[in-house]
Amino acid sequence: MDQLTVETLDRPRDDDALRALLPGLGPDRALLGGGTYLFSAPQPHLRGLVDLTAAGWTPITADDDGLTVAATATLARLADLDPARYPQWPALPLIAGCCEALVGSRKVWHVATVGGNVCLALPAGPMTTLAAALDGVATVWDAAGNERRELVEDLVVGTQATTLAAGEVLRAIHLPATALRGRTALRKASLAPLGRSAVLIAGRRNPDGRFTLAVTAALPRPAVLRYDGLPDAGRLAADVDALAGTHGGWYDDPHGRPAWRHAMSRHLAEEIRAELR
Ligand SMILES: Cc1cc2nc3c(=O)[nH]c(=O)nc-3n(C[C@H](O)[C@H](O)[C@H](O)COP(=O)(O)OP(=O)(O)OC[C@H]3O[C@@H](n4cnc5c(N)ncnc54)[C@H](O)[C@@H]3O)c2cc1C
Repeated sequence: MDQLTVETLDRPRDDDALRALLPGLGPDRALLGGGTYLFSAPQPHLRGLVDLTAAGWTPITADDDGLTVAATATLARLADLDPARYPQWPALPLIAGCCEALVGSRKVWHVATVGGNVCLALPAGPMTTLAAALDGVATVWDAAGNERRELVEDLVVGTQATTLAAGEVLRAIHLPATALRGRTALRKASLAPLGRSAVLIAGRRNPDGRFTLAVTAALPRPAVLRYDGLPDAGRLAADVDALAGTHGGWYDDPHGRPAWRHAMSRHLAEEIRAELR
């Protein structure tokens, strides 16, 4: 939809031009990724937009340390990554699974960005799930020209709430090779076959036996459980139960009641534990 209050659109063509605009960001001037959220509902507080997609960031870089995904990489670009090209990283099929968890048309996939998905910080943000399950680390630029790194699971702190301060931009997410070497499993529950995720859980088992479980969509913010080896069913269920106390309670919105989300989280966590045994 048109945003009739927006008067300026900046399209910085390189990093220096973008950094020069960061101090001017605030409640009335927002960063623009693919715009699939920003142009989906009225934004009467906005007077200006800074389009990140013109800066020319390389969408995906692979090296011995892992994968670095630019914030401006689209979900379609990420989903096209061919796991067969990287046999050393069995975790890669999780990427396509998480992209598919965003139930939008191909049109949405082709413009929605990884950074926009994480920074919008909806509980059902599947790029947050992906990063949380793979120990993803965000690189953030601030308005003073500094750079900081933070686990994505810590960057998203609640429903549409992140640690990003005014003038900060998510530049990229790094998925470390140590995590990409693990086997992964993904489970989703939603009220309708093509509905928004009410529960989205991703698990990972490293070659050394370590087990990681990212519980998302069922809670207002991502939760990551980490174990040195495979926990037994009772311990995993108890740890999932305890998440309500540490992560803001089981989420309640039209996509699922809290008690159902809790029950499905327990059930799907156990399915993942069994699959990665
Ligand atoms: C049909 C449909 C289905 C959808 N399903 C889902 C779903 O299942 N789960 C879900 O989470 N969302 C869903 N969405 C919402 C949205 O499309 C996605 O979250 C999408 O990934 C947002 O990315 P974007 O690049 O379009 O973000 P934009 O709309 O461009 O931006 C979203 C927010 O992030 C900020 N932002 C963008 N990039 C950055 C950056 N690099 N640094 C700092 N801030 C930034 C913007 O200022 C804005 O506040 C859906 C939308 C549609 C239309």
